[in-house]
Amino acid sequence: MADDYYQILGVSRTASADEIKKAFRKLARQYHPDVNPGNKAAEEKFKQLNAAFEVLSDERKRKLYDEFGDEAAKFGFDEKKATQYRAYKAAQAAGGGMPFGGAGGGADFDLGDILGDIFNRSRGGGGGGVDFGEIFGRAAGGRGDGPTPGEDITASLTLSFGEALTGIERSISLQRPGRCQRCQGSGQVGTPTTCATCGGSGRIRRGSGILGMAGGACPTCHGSGRAAPPCPSCQATGVVDETARLTVKIPAGVQTGSKVRLAGQGAAGMHGGPPGDLYIETQVAEHPLVRREGDDLYLDLPVTVTEAMLGAEVRVPTFQGEVTVKVPPGSQSGRRMRLRGRGAPSLKGGPSGDLYLTLQVKVPEHPSSEARKAAEALASAYQTDVRGSLQL
Ligand SMILES: [Zn+2]
Ligand SMILES: [Zn+2]
Repeated sequence: MADDYYQILGVSRTASADEIKKAFRKLARQYHPDVNPGNKAAEEKFKQLNAAFEVLSDERKRKLYDEFGDEAAKFGFDEKKATQYRAYKAAQAAGGGMPFGGAGGGADFDLGDILGDIFNRSRGGGGGGVDFGEIFGRAAGGRGDGPTPGEDITASLTLSFGEALTGIERSISLQRPGRCQRCQGSGQVGTPTTCATCGGSGRIRRGSGILGMAGGACPTCHGSGRAAPPCPSCQATGVVDETARLTVKIPAGVQTGSKVRLAGQGAAGMHGGPPGDLYIETQVAEHPLVRREGDDLYLDLPVTVTEAMLGAEVRVPTFQGEVTVKVPPGSQSGRRMRLRGRGAPSLKGGPSGDLYLTLQVKVPEHPSSEARKAAEALASAYQTDVRGSLQL
């Protein structure tokens, strides 16, 4: 009998119903999941307490438990079945060949019944229960003292126009609330002993007089009643300020205002809570020549009068390397040409944007007399008035 119900409640086998109830209430407060969030051991203990109390608070069940021990619970506190089972085990131990024989007298013994009862026993028999809403109605306020998730942090990172297009890895240093190394974030160091704040009850009174009745979970031990000495490095919060060095990978295609998330790199959680996330918000510097709209880039492409008139193949730099672009003969200034896929990479994984070139016909700034003559000769080449359509 691994878990003796009396031992679980810490009472003697002759304890009165009142003593059992008192012992249960005290322990249930201490191990209640509301005051031990995430504590598996406490949860298990709480389940055991309930199982023990369910039996020992019920006069009939307690009597059967005293007689049959665990078997009583296994058979749903059906005295007849428990008796049968006991006889069966006795027969087995005696080397009887017939497992369900009449060795103990129980000829109507039915394994199906037994299994059915075993699987149903967790339903709880009703009666003897305690309303936890009543006891713990105000305990929830204590939760804020338990593990608290860390905040998200947003940091700004300035990139050059080109870096935003190609993506970069950059080492940054960041001030943030970090996990205390000394206590590994628990806020406590050393061996747990009875909590000094609450004297081991796991509860504290708040306020005074009538209002003092409304207690909360002990902020030091979070309701467990046991606590190790507070960590001096972090004032028991589990969190200390730290300067973190991180290598951040900025994907190609970010813009001003893009956010890159680094999971778990935000502020450390208090009392061992999970950390928040770090968001790197990118600021992308302007480019003196290239304008960006979404994933499309815009660049003015200067051409000579000759190239514009007669057509040419010209070299154009792009962020993916130089390309040769064919300027069609008779191109006017302002003509727009599109280089598909030469824009910014898509952050969403779609196709890249395009690079739009806008032709700008450049005239010679200091024409020679020869150039002047050539220009005069050009004047006669216009067949219509170039401003003929300018009607406002
Ligand atoms: Zn610490
Ligand atoms: Zn305490």
